[in-house]
Amino acid sequence: MCRIEEASAGTACPVCAATSASTLYPTAPDPITGQTFSIQICAACGVAFTAPRPADLEPYYPPRYRGYGPFVTAVLQALYARRVRKWARHDSAQGRSILEIGCGPGLMLEVFQRAGWSVLGLERNTAAAAQAARLGVPVRSCDVAELPDIPAFDLIVMFNVLEHLAHPVQVLAACARRLKPGGELIVNVPNLASWQARFGGPVWLHLDPPRHLVHFSYATLREAFERAGLRAAGVSFVSFEHDPYGWSESAINRIMGRSNVLTRYLMGFDRFGAATTLAAGLFALLALPAALLSVASWLAGCGALMEVTGRRVQDTRS
Ligand SMILES: [Zn+2]
Repeated sequence: MCRIEEASAGTACPVCAATSASTLYPTAPDPITGQTFSIQICAACGVAFTAPRPADLEPYYPPRYRGYGPFVTAVLQALYARRVRKWARHDSAQGRSILEIGCGPGLMLEVFQRAGWSVLGLERNTAAAAQAARLGVPVRSCDVAELPDIPAFDLIVMFNVLEHLAHPVQVLAACARRLKPGGELIVNVPNLASWQARFGGPVWLHLDPPRHLVHFSYATLREAFERAGLRAAGVSFVSFEHDPYGWSESAINRIMGRSNVLTRYLMGFDRFGAATTLAAGLFALLALPAALLSVASWLAGCGALMEVTGRRVQDTRS
């Protein structure tokens, strides 16, 4: 993922800077450090955000964060490849260019590159960036605002990045300025208005404070887009990798009163023990209901993640 911007320990809204907010959850635990945060709702623009915002976020991103083993990585890779094939489907890739912000080990960009696209990834994590470079993916360790301020890209992708940023509108605006006329920005973030978010409450898997600084609904993300000179042109609520797992893990969090037992094990934070055994048993029992709830939430437009396509406002005027 890309650099987490400097944030002061304040409670101003990260979207509109208003300082008046109400409390959605007074106590939301960080599943990695065990510290607690509150989730606030901005009185002016309605977006939810984590408070207080740590001045230094480094301690909340231990090296094991998202450090999955080969099996989970292979599953994620297959799911990403499926999604990328959909985005990359063009009659001719000749001359088409993509920027991915927070490209991680470059798995998605490699698929685009093989399809003939010109690709660039931004990644602050040096180990991930080195992996991307080994795949032959050009990668830079900088923010999007540090790239030349010219409309150079047909497609810009931010996959589970925007919710980590202290100033999401500035980053969206920097993206908008770098889109070619007719270009598209694809943003994928957790959906606070989802059924799963409401069910999980403060222990919802995809709430993840304080790494997630902003918690969008489709309405508040559209508002952030507008402020950045973008217009939402489409949304999908289907996420095979996030919805079923999120239902199960959020339910286990509520049943066991402990956060993310399985995820912590998969990331290598905890060894296999009694708690993991119980969680794995519950996971097996919950697999079918979780799958059914996922499909129902997708059909209702209330999935746990949303993938929103944006276009520059000047391109959407008729
Ligand atoms: Zn606001």
